[in-house]
Amino acid sequence: MTQSEYPQGLSDTHEATILSSTRYTPETTDEVRQIVLTLNEPSFYYLEGQTIGVLVPGPHPFGNAFHHRYYTLAHVRQTEQGVELELLVRRCFYIDEVSGEEYPGIASNYLCNAQTGDRISLTGPHASPFWIPADKEYNLLMLGTGTGIAPFRAFLRRIYQEQKDWKGKVRLYYGAKTGTDMLYMNDVNNDLSLYYDQETFQAIQAVGKSLLGDEGDALKGGVADHAADIWKLIQEPKTHVYLAGMKKIATALDEVMVQTAGSSELWLQTKERLIQERRWSELTYQ
Ligand SMILES: Cc1cc2nc3c(=O)[nH]c(=O)nc-3n(C[C@H](O)[C@H](O)[C@H](O)COP(=O)(O)OP(=O)(O)OC[C@H]3O[C@@H](n4cnc5c(N)ncnc54)[C@H](O)[C@@H]3O)c2cc1C
Repeated sequence: MTQSEYPQGLSDTHEATILSSTRYTPETTDEVRQIVLTLNEPSFYYLEGQTIGVLVPGPHPFGNAFHHRYYTLAHVRQTEQGVELELLVRRCFYIDEVSGEEYPGIASNYLCNAQTGDRISLTGPHASPFWIPADKEYNLLMLGTGTGIAPFRAFLRRIYQEQKDWKGKVRLYYGAKTGTDMLYMNDVNNDLSLYYDQETFQAIQAVGKSLLGDEGDALKGGVADHAADIWKLIQEPKTHVYLAGMKKIATALDEVMVQTAGSSELWLQTKERLIQERRWSELTYQ
């Protein structure tokens, strides 16, 4: 594939090699893999929360020559040869509304099937609505589900391992169907426990209460249980709100906050102020 063959606007491309691919969730639940790629480009520069694009070579359905999807950089590590990029990828499937048949998502299955040594074409890194405030007194209110944990883990690593002395409150509300679906907070990988001893950090794990519900419903339950704390934090002038993961979590937060604020008008005014002041970031998908 040559540069000129890439889709318009995606000319900033890189060739990466799969270094490892590890399943992060047990066989009994949805498959999420940690995929590490190496890039022989020492100057590759990224900021926490940014995404890279994965270009899957065609041919694809509907005559598409390329299939391009975004993945959040969970971590980037400089090495002597270049950089290692870490992604967290959920293997996706979808049901065709007409035939009722199940189809594998193209990019997620391409990545989850890739073997060590395989070459992958990447684009980016792409600009992100997520960034860490320069002021260390900022409260970071993070709400997420599924692979939406990736930017939050990158944030936590940055503020506690590299910058250290973060002074604002850091609250992570994370919704999952079951305890084993808690990425970076389960028996396979408990990476986030590294930060449990930080005075300013608190992780609130919201596990689904109903078999029929999904991780978005679980998060809504966790938000409802701590609604007064969240509302209080949101009203502080130095609070930044981040939402990552399923699209429906934004609506779930709205619904709970309308109740807590006492009126939809007050909630919408509050939210609008945060958006205007660039203290509200969303990175939702699926
Ligand atoms: C900013 C951003 C960051 C992201 N970060 C991550 C991450 O860190 N980890 C992660 O796992 N995912 C992440 N995603 C989601 C990811 O980009 C993909 O959307 C996901 O992996 C599914 O892609 P796929 O190619 O496997 O599925 P697809 O083959 O694209 O199918 C997915 C959906 O698209 C629909 N669809 C497919 N083809 C068509 C078509 N031709 N016309 C209309 N609809 C169609 C299907 O119905 C299905 O619902 C992120 C998304 C965004 C926008």
